[in-house]
Amino acid sequence: MARANATYYAGRDPFADFVTAPEISQIFGEILGAWVAVTWQAMGRPALFRLIEAGPGRGTLMADMLRLLARVAPDCHQAARVHLLEQSPRLRAVQHAALAGRGAWPVAWHAHLADVPEGPSILLANEFLDALPIRQFVRTADGWDERFVQGVGFVTVPAHDVPWGAAAGELFGRPVPLGEILEFCPEALAVAESVAARLSHAPGAGLFIDYGYDGAIWGDTLQALRDGQPAWPLADPGQADLTAHVDFAAFAAAARQGGALCHGSVTQGAFLAGLGLFARAEQLARGRAAAEAHAIRDAAQRLAAPDRMGRLFKVLALTSPGLPAPPGFQAHE
Ligand code: SAH
Repeated sequence: MARANATYYAGRDPFADFVTAPEISQIFGEILGAWVAVTWQAMGRPALFRLIEAGPGRGTLMADMLRLLARVAPDCHQAARVHLLEQSPRLRAVQHAALAGRGAWPVAWHAHLADVPEGPSILLANEFLDALPIRQFVRTADGWDERFVQGVGFVTVPAHDVPWGAAAGELFGRPVPLGEILEFCPEALAVAESVAARLSHAPGAGLFIDYGYDGAIWGDTLQALRDGQPAWPLADPGQADLTAHVDFAAFAAAARQGGALCHGSVTQGAFLAGLGLFARAEQLARGRAAAEAHAIRDAAQRLAAPDRMGRLFKVLALTSPGLPAPPGFQAHE
């Protein structure tokens, strides 16, 4: 799956297959830009900090955040050094074009977080964790099998290492029914650990937005999207976007273990509504032609309504120890 997705992001325009929050409304990036400014203040307004985005796609979110920062928080804008974590050369070129002229040069690209210079940092990641490869384990009468891809199907073999220690067939004390699948994303946990390590060495924060679950849950969430339609995940590797739901509880546990404070998760709908999504939509819609005003309001609904992206998508923040709960999480302390 790792290789299939690397081929996919390097070879196709992923945005023909799915639409992400920053592409739906500019308000998404504006709210996250304001979040960055407030967090930077709480960090003590460092004269220089790394503004890092993991998996920046078309660069839209970063461009919207920088535009907002330049307008309402010029000191923060000036302190920001932009670092993009992107492996696809093709998307790097798209991001370059999106960010040219944003007054934030030089923008640096890296394959890994470890390559970003040390110091204060704020990292954002929207729909990044779901693209990382997962392992799947199937509960059997004797314990667990691991499921592997073979050709266009799956094979299962007895698991020799069950990562969460549920060897007896339990997940956090709950017995997992026979035949059920548990997922495990080692790369996501490695991201949690490396962000937490950064945050324990220098002030900073991380914000992770993705669709997923927060709790001990099982089930097969591997899915593929091709041309906007669900596809069989194992057909034509590299031609469809492969994703899995993010296990926020496991991610938070790894981050806590690494020394970071965790805030949330909260639902995307509650997060965005609490930070002014609808007020901003009204402001943008005012004075526009009816169809345009409707499109602006509908985009806001699409991001926040529980039956659209508002509930399935979750937001989790990590901060350095000693920092206050960031915007959108205060009520959840
Ligand atoms: N955040 C963007 C794009 C999401 S798509 C948006 O919201 O629109 C996932 C992004 O993560 C793509 O940019 C993809 O190339 C990148 N990506 C996937 N796996 C990666 C990895 N292992 N390292 C760095 N980037 C990765």
